Amino acid sequence: MDATKNADAQVTDGCPGDGRSGGEGACALEKAADELRRGGVVAFPTETVYGLGADAFNPKAVARVFEIKQRPSFDPLIVHIDDRAKLSHVALDVPPAAEKLMAAFWPGPLTIVLQKTPLIPDLVTSGLPTVAVRMPAHDMALSLIRACGVPLCAPSANPFGYVSPTRAEHVVEQLGALVDRVLDGGPCAVGIESTIVDVTDGAPRILRPGVITAEALSLVLGEDVCRRTSHRAPLAPGMLPRHYSPRVPIALFEGTIPAAPGNAAGLLLQGPREVPAGYALVEVLSRNGDPAEVAHHLFAALRQLDRKDLDILVVELADERGIGRAINDRLRRAGCRDGADQG
Ligand code: AMP
Ligand code: MG
Repeated sequence: MDATKNADAQVTDGCPGDGRSGGEGACALEKAADELRRGGVVAFPTETVYGLGADAFNPKAVARVFEIKQRPSFDPLIVHIDDRAKLSHVALDVPPAAEKLMAAFWPGPLTIVLQKTPLIPDLVTSGLPTVAVRMPAHDMALSLIRACGVPLCAPSANPFGYVSPTRAEHVVEQLGALVDRVLDGGPCAVGIESTIVDVTDGAPRILRPGVITAEALSLVLGEDVCRRTSHRAPLAPGMLPRHYSPRVPIALFEGTIPAAPGNAAGLLLQGPREVPAGYALVEVLSRNGDPAEVAHHLFAALRQLDRKDLDILVVELADERGIGRAINDRLRRAGCRDGADQG
């Protein structure tokens, strides 16, 4: 897609009372909320990645989200709320484990799968009786949901299968012409998608790793949280081998840095290291290999490197523990060539 040609959505950064409403007169956030209430689609920042928001109670608006992203209808969406008291509009039967997790991690980058209410259209959950719910830790996101008065479904604001956006300009480049508005809240602090945990059938289990780690969840719940996705989990892109993928082929490594495979090879490192000669480009994700900093920069770096006409991108895996597991999950999916028709 041509970045400039498609960059015609309104990009605004106004919040109530912040005096920066993008020169549009009325507050941009109020306008965005109005658009959402009328069935529009608005991209907005959260602490994880930018979301493509629509009224979660409005099937037509939700259908537009699937269409804009070219997302298959078998991939359920996460519903975002601003207030624990409104959870009852979205989910039923909140088990004690979910209460504990919400108390410990909301607002924050944790999505909890619960039984859905009839108010949530089947399209949102891909026909599942369950719904994934999150309360984001981002002032603009919370203000927007509050101003709408409805929960927002909000998958990452990128074409299906591509790297998730962590800056407003990432959204504008790819989907600017297709959405009604893009709210700019600056770079996302966390940088990778939320941890997803399912508590609907007894033993809690992680469906997608994130910066809220298995260890942190286990500590709060007082029991071990299973990290493996079960075969009963729905088939969804977050769990498909190939996802979060740039166009440039990726080769992953651990340990010794491999020799540059050709003249147009890029190298993406977790932290500073001595680099063998021959790499056309080297990017370092964190000055001290801090996994939280790596997560924060990862998707922006992949997007940037994807524009450099490299033949291959050689990427160092993180240590397979804590947040490193979530980083490696994204890297392995980005590097996977299976299902290369996704896009
Ligand atoms: P995202 O791509 O960040 O919007 O996250 C959506 C992902 O959440 C899906 O790909 C699923 O992996 C997961 N998800 C959403 N709803 C459900 C659900 N009801 N049960 C299990 N996983 C879900
Ligand atoms: Mg996504």
